Amino acid sequence: MTAQLQTAARQWPVARGDVIAPQPFKVYTQRDLERIAPLAAMSEEARFEMKVVSTVLPFRVNQYVIDELIDWNDTPADPIFQLTFPQRGMLTEGHYEWIAELYRRDADKAEIDAAVQEIRLELNPHPADQMEMNMPRDEVGERLDGMQHKYRETVLFFPSQGQTCHSYCTFCFRWAQFVGDKALRIAASEAQRLHAYLRKQPAVTDLLFTGGDPMVMKTKHLAGYLEPLLTPEFGHIQTIRIGTKALSFWPHRFLGADDADELVRLLERMVKAGKHVALMAHYNHWRELETPAARAAIRRIRDTGAVIRGQGPLIAHINDNPAVWARLWQTQVRLGIVPYYMFVERDTGARHYFEVPLARAWEIYREAMQQVSGLARTARGPSMSASPGKVEIQGVTEIGGEKVFVLRFIQGRNPDWVQRPFFARYDPEATWLNHLRPAFGEEKWFWEEEYEALREDRLAVAA
Ligand code: SF4
Repeated sequence: MTAQLQTAARQWPVARGDVIAPQPFKVYTQRDLERIAPLAAMSEEARFEMKVVSTVLPFRVNQYVIDELIDWNDTPADPIFQLTFPQRGMLTEGHYEWIAELYRRDADKAEIDAAVQEIRLELNPHPADQMEMNMPRDEVGERLDGMQHKYRETVLFFPSQGQTCHSYCTFCFRWAQFVGDKALRIAASEAQRLHAYLRKQPAVTDLLFTGGDPMVMKTKHLAGYLEPLLTPEFGHIQTIRIGTKALSFWPHRFLGADDADELVRLLERMVKAGKHVALMAHYNHWRELETPAARAAIRRIRDTGAVIRGQGPLIAHINDNPAVWARLWQTQVRLGIVPYYMFVERDTGARHYFEVPLARAWEIYREAMQQVSGLARTARGPSMSASPGKVEIQGVTEIGGEKVFVLRFIQGRNPDWVQRPFFARYDPEATWLNHLRPAFGEEKWFWEEEYEALREDRLAVAA
């Protein structure tokens, strides 16, 4: 077959005559800022700001995002521009000026690197005690890098080939994994280690591949992790979840990419063998669902029998608006995606720029829910993935004359905490669980002593 014919053969039909042509994957990082054509129309100062911020926080964007998702007539306010391009406010004034001044006086690389390292360590690179509390250990107490086992039923696996993304989100709570510092990374290189661990964990039913984005992996690598799970000894692993933003940032991964067909067949095989395969698709804005390629990719995944569940954080400058969430969830339902989670932005990285107070988050969630039908009301939230567990804000109310937040664990380090309502004093400024205090004059949360004991145990083992 000639190259031209091969290209034609790989075109993917969308609907009634539409065709998605394959596209080459073209990516830009901090070094390429000057080569991103639409940025040339921006001021030199704006470009300098992007350079300074992306020296500290990771930056990566691809041509599809630039051409099809960003409305360049609406920058800098455009939500997808805010989602992918560095913004000055992402660094505190002090941190920003520190790096800017180094560039202005042409400081050498070593001096810039040292400053960057110091700033990064101040940005809470691993929130919620991820390193110490969640990583499992083998029989002799060795830490099993590349895995997290926080909740009884679910193991998170970070395949080493999947520790990047097709584009980076500016608010990413996993930013520390992308900045090239090995001490800050969580990754495993060996499938055997994963399989050996799972073999000994009959209570684990769910395996979540995460990253980065596991969909940046070649299909053959993904198959190396997944196919052994089809043998009877892994019968207890019922659900394979794959956390991904590829449906937004690079839908061609599922269409015209070299190994897209193999990927689709792999998912089909997993489903046919009786596994529940769920793509945990990260969406922040309905705009990500509007392109023909995005829709074709969704259709192709759904045709395999895999389920797509939509989740994403509530982020200032991007989606802190009930109408945006209502339209996102409605569009998801129309395309066959199950709305799953609205998360609260984590306490890491550029949080001060992106965070939304919990009280406002709940209002946005509630107002969005009021605008959608029952099928879109499957989204839980706003939910904080905190160290003790996933805590949902269920509402704000008054009990015995005291204004309170009603909270519950959706997931907990102790399964007994799950679904038990508890109450926090209302605080309009609070943005995370550790800002809240128990209501009704209580000294401690009902779970606090148990959690502290568990934490001390874990940290003692880690020491
Ligand atoms: S896709 Fe996920 S892991 Fe990748 S940058 Fe965005 S939030 Fe982070």
